[in-house]
Amino acid sequence: MIGVIADPSQNSVVCEFFELFKTPWEFHRSERKYDVVLCCGNATYTGFAKLVVSYASAQSAAEDIKGPARIAASKQYQIPIYCGTTSFPENDGQLLVDQSSGECLAYSYSSGDMIGAQIGYDLFNEIRTLLTIGQPVIHAATPTLELHIALLRDLIVESGVALVEIPPVPDAHPFIACLTHDVDHPSIRKHKWDHTVLGFVYRATVGSLHQAIRGGISWRGFLKNAVATLKLPFVQIGLASDFWSDFDDRYLDVENVRHSTFFVIPFSNRPGKNSQGAAPAFRGAKYGAADVASSIRKLKDSGCEIGLHGIDAWIDSDLGRVEFEEIRKLCGDSQIGVRMHWLYFDRNSPKTLERAGANYDSTVGYNETVGYRAGTAQAYKPFEVEQLIELPLQIMDTALFYPSHLGLTPAQAKVLVDRLQAEVGQFGGCLTINWHDRSTAPERLWVTTYRDLLESLTNRGAWFATASQAVAWFRTRRAVVFEGNSSDPTTLRVNVASDEQSQLPALRLRIHNPRELRGTECQNAREYVDQPLTTSVDLRICSVANC
Ligand SMILES: [Zn+2]
Repeated sequence: MIGVIADPSQNSVVCEFFELFKTPWEFHRSERKYDVVLCCGNATYTGFAKLVVSYASAQSAAEDIKGPARIAASKQYQIPIYCGTTSFPENDGQLLVDQSSGECLAYSYSSGDMIGAQIGYDLFNEIRTLLTIGQPVIHAATPTLELHIALLRDLIVESGVALVEIPPVPDAHPFIACLTHDVDHPSIRKHKWDHTVLGFVYRATVGSLHQAIRGGISWRGFLKNAVATLKLPFVQIGLASDFWSDFDDRYLDVENVRHSTFFVIPFSNRPGKNSQGAAPAFRGAKYGAADVASSIRKLKDSGCEIGLHGIDAWIDSDLGRVEFEEIRKLCGDSQIGVRMHWLYFDRNSPKTLERAGANYDSTVGYNETVGYRAGTAQAYKPFEVEQLIELPLQIMDTALFYPSHLGLTPAQAKVLVDRLQAEVGQFGGCLTINWHDRSTAPERLWVTTYRDLLESLTNRGAWFATASQAVAWFRTRRAVVFEGNSSDPTTLRVNVASDEQSQLPALRLRIHNPRELRGTECQNAREYVDQPLTTSVDLRICSVANC
């Protein structure tokens, strides 16, 4: 059991942090004994615990991040720090140093039977910053929140304390994969000869030729695009089939029962609002959900999920309610999730979306790059909402391939996407991917990269979940309650709200330094054992505080 001493203004951040690092903890009570004490802010701790980790205090969470962060570095980790650092004169026991100045930012020491660690940043202000404004593009590649958890976990495990946790990893799978599609352009015919179609013609001809020369697409792809361009006038007058309209069949075919989630725009020709007022006219889609009603039915019947691709729901709850209702009416589900068109979002959006009736949101990501805006691939509950869960977005096709964004070739994209899969495999969580509806059709033809990604996820053993299923799994994990027993500190009850009907994979119970379980009492095992967790269990933990 970890005892946490923190400023009461940080309580909501502390609670959310320990939903992401799901391990027994409580706010410190002076009459209780703890193996580990976390001492944050300006508090000092004078009692005994096997491990005392003290984090420095920053004034507040960052409101805005300009320029690169300071990097607190060790052999294993490079952690961007956004709310300021405190350096120490110590040379011994260094855990982290400032990457540019070399100053010591964290060190450990021992004093009798106690191990102490001084960390020169404010953990909970860092977590608050990550889960509110998020990381700038320059640090998108770093799963910063997971590194904060990993550093703390390492300190606890290396101190020899038995640590129980429920990792963000479903039983029998290394991580979750959530395939999603923002449906923006389900018909080229509806565009007549607007900027989208003129852009298509340019990219399918000049752009495609350029891509073929640099190896971005095959010559076969170039030919396919040339033929599509020649067909276009006939598509427009209804004499040839609309090659953007079969997005449902294209994805059902390539995904082959790996059920995905389609975010559908409710109303046509509504650009909606941005933070300055009216959004650009071309944000308005040329279709509304009712225009793709037959695709919605087909996808639902095939086990896929339909969500809202919101226009104004992020900024106006009343308009959001109408948007949700339109999708609800067409797909028949009462619980609907959302991703905003163009990823429009601000600090108030979680609350606004919750008021509009969203079950979850999956907007927190980047338009221009891939990675971890909130520093994690775990679903989390934004502050100030009651129920809504954020399922952050890591990989978007347009970010990978648009020349104005990362502009990668398929081979370069594969390297990047492989790295993200490996990281989510290491830290756990849900790799959420957005491949747009028209991305496997001319002129994009990004189908090979997508097929390779699906194959790689399958080979790695990922659990393919729709967004609702992934969110439901995280909700089950969040609902687990650890109950200590003040008269017998060697026992711990893990309360699981078991649902016999649930089709979701089980949770995992992980025990680090599992001395009692392995019958090797009080040896420092420095390893963990996993077991599936489907119902409540009582554990006997041989902890330093009691053994
Ligand atoms: Zn969109």
